[in-house]
Amino acid sequence: MASAASSTLQAASMQPRPMPAGHRVGPNAIIQTREALDAICGSEMRRTLFAAAGLGRWQEHDPDHLVDAGDVQALSAAIARALPSRKAERVLSMAGGLTGGYILANRIPPFAQRLLRALPARCALPVLLMAVKRHSWTFAGAAPVTCGADWRGRGWIIIEDNPLCAGRAGFERCIWHEAVFKRLFSELVSPGVTVQETACTGGGQPSCRFDIRLSAR
Ligand SMILES: [Zn+2]
Repeated sequence: MASAASSTLQAASMQPRPMPAGHRVGPNAIIQTREALDAICGSEMRRTLFAAAGLGRWQEHDPDHLVDAGDVQALSAAIARALPSRKAERVLSMAGGLTGGYILANRIPPFAQRLLRALPARCALPVLLMAVKRHSWTFAGAAPVTCGADWRGRGWIIIEDNPLCAGRAGFERCIWHEAVFKRLFSELVSPGVTVQETACTGGGQPSCRFDIRLSAR
């Protein structure tokens, strides 16, 4: 009985968690997804998906303020529902890469970028992680974010109850976040860096965890 109860409890704990409400995130989560949809699927499909997500107001005009995380989730869910899974993943991956590019161009000063590129990768890693934490509102709203790195050059970013969790919008994992972080860390720390989500609130975990590994070189 004890083992049956324990497995029932375990199964219950792995159910998808309800979406947290009230988070505001950077508008690029919408703007760059629109760019990616236009590039990969064409503007007609993009219009259909924005309309399906209730985001007609941003078909032609960029939001110029923080957006509700629920709107981003609605768009991700519309993409997951309408597109074949590989294509849907490409859209989120491209949108994440473009968002990383926006952060590089607008949020990290050029002198800081030069400094990071000049540092050995194992030293640059924790410095960039601190900067990522400072700007976590752009990709995690008000959710608690913890970052860290060990002496072997392995870093991690943990978003508690991730309000932009693609895993809760119909994707296998948080592809958009992986792509945002990959763009930042590959450009400023090491070109061979890998970023992989190893726990996801979409799978019933309390947080989304992203592991960052420097290249084997
Ligand atoms: Zn996740």
